Amino acid sequence: PSRSEITYFGAGPAALPTDVLETAAKALVDYNGTGLGIAEHSHRSQYATDIINNAKNDLASYLDIDQSVYDILFMQAGGTGEFSAVVYNLVGAWVQNKIFEASKEVTDIPQDELVRRLKEKIANELKLDYIVTGSWSLKAYEEAIRLLGKEYVNLVVDAREHNNGKFGVIPDESTWKLSENAALVYYCDNETVDGVEFPAFPEILRSKPDSDSNPIVVADMSSNILSRRVPVNDHSIIFFGAQKNLGSAGVAVAVVKKTFLPPVTPQPQPDIMRKIGLPVPPIMMEYAPIAKNNSLYNTLSIFDVFIAGQVLKKLLATYPDKVDGQRKVAEQKAQLIYGALDKFPDVYKVVPSKGARSRMNICFRVIKNGDVDAAEKEFLAQATKLGLTGLKGHRSVGGMRASNYNSISLEGAQKLAKFIADFAQS
Ligand code: PLP
Repeated sequence: PSRSEITYFGAGPAALPTDVLETAAKALVDYNGTGLGIAEHSHRSQYATDIINNAKNDLASYLDIDQSVYDILFMQAGGTGEFSAVVYNLVGAWVQNKIFEASKEVTDIPQDELVRRLKEKIANELKLDYIVTGSWSLKAYEEAIRLLGKEYVNLVVDAREHNNGKFGVIPDESTWKLSENAALVYYCDNETVDGVEFPAFPEILRSKPDSDSNPIVVADMSSNILSRRVPVNDHSIIFFGAQKNLGSAGVAVAVVKKTFLPPVTPQPQPDIMRKIGLPVPPIMMEYAPIAKNNSLYNTLSIFDVFIAGQVLKKLLATYPDKVDGQRKVAEQKAQLIYGALDKFPDVYKVVPSKGARSRMNICFRVIKNGDVDAAEKEFLAQATKLGLTGLKGHRSVGGMRASNYNSISLEGAQKLAKFIADFAQS
């Protein structure tokens, strides 16, 4: 089949707009009439710098990110790399703050004494808080344990304990067990595998104006970024891989509050970290050198940044009210698809509970006639014939998953909703 006959509902990498790909294909061969493609130009060239800066500015404009408060970084180890990066950087910032406090009490503190005090503080106070609502936040939680050890990592809440051992709900905030002054509080805004999305920013994590003990909030927004307004200022770090709503695989974006970067917060010296028994980050995981070099500490895939930039340009041109415009369409599409599923409760079962349903990844089972396996096979076969592809769910959840990212058009969602209804009635 040709591109125009397909609506691809895969979870990531996701479909990209055809016109963006056509522009990118041309740029790959010859960028701006220079006779050289965008993947060949030096990452130190003005072309590369302009592509990076334009993408940053368009992202900031689209999502209302104040670049005097936040740095926008292009990172290179995907969303998974950020699971590790946030641990390294925020533990580093936590240690640096303790060094700062110790040096306020005693000037010229000898290193042995500093190390002794830091070790004591670490043993008594260091905690990283994880809110686990699905497979991806679970992976991030496990990575923190792998890097630091279980004793420093606090499970704020495990959604499975509130839903018969399975993901599919956002537990009430009153059940969350937050630590005091955690080095970070982590949540995943949209769980791609389980189809669970926070309906709104958790109130319990909200910053209070002028308080110096606001929670240090980290959010993974890999699979719902650009689809609704984000209360950026309530976050210390927001990160997302590009390959779902923004662009192609190869870059991840980290939006990092400048107070966690030099000169306000330097990274602790590696020899101190070794002496106090905490890990030294690989340099590519450290935000400070990436920020200092405008994401060009080393060779970056400018081609992937270019694609993300073109997607942002298109979004800005399409929606005068920016992300609010895209949000309305995302909601409309999700309502169409959930609406069709809910209309036939004998044929379909949506996996997550109503209050936690993701607008982006719609997970459901086909229970028609009781033989779920056969019904799902038939559903997939018929859908594929109509050009509705990529609907098979993640192996850990099973069933169907319709990923309803920004590049799915309203017509594409309508086509799927109609098929869901037709299949139920056939
Ligand atoms: N976080 C979420 C919510 C994801 O959906 C994914 C990938 O699907 C990741 C993190 C991991 O991203 P990557 O494959 O870029 O490491």
